[in-house]
Amino acid sequence: MHKIKPAQTISSAAIGRALDQLRTVVKQRGLKSSAVRETVAEVALRRPGHFSVDDLVSDLRSSGVIDAHPATVYRVLPLLVEAGLLQLTLISTGDGARYERAFEREHHDHLVCTSCGKVVEFCFEAIELLQRDICERFGFELTGHIHELLGVCKECRTTDAVT
Ligand SMILES: [Zn+2]
Ligand SMILES: [Zn+2]
Repeated sequence: MHKIKPAQTISSAAIGRALDQLRTVVKQRGLKSSAVRETVAEVALRRPGHFSVDDLVSDLRSSGVIDAHPATVYRVLPLLVEAGLLQLTLISTGDGARYERAFEREHHDHLVCTSCGKVVEFCFEAIELLQRDICERFGFELTGHIHELLGVCKECRTTDAVT
């Protein structure tokens, strides 16, 4: 088991590689290239950590590159996930799903504090293996998983004990 290093700021070279990967998927799908889509992709890739669609919209607006409408961002996101640039995350926290960069990042799962919202990223090889095992037993080929553990962190448990 190991803890995952927090996402580092992405380099411009990595952004270039990510956009190339996106263009390949866009072509395969027979879609037209779109400057707005690429801008959304770049701003999303540059955002560290876990973010909501609203976070991304405000980033896009403050960057001044495009006057992003939430509907535009919602339309673009599934393709960015399909292209492997982003992944859906933290879907069981109750206040709306988040996204995070998946491109050139290590696979990881999440531990969420239901009291303060703290998130720990980890990878436990045994769990990865067991999940594949479960799929095999049911005749599934595993293509992905979202694994989240909900709990109360040490700090929150200590605070509760005092009050
Ligand atoms: Zn907590
Ligand atoms: Zn994460």
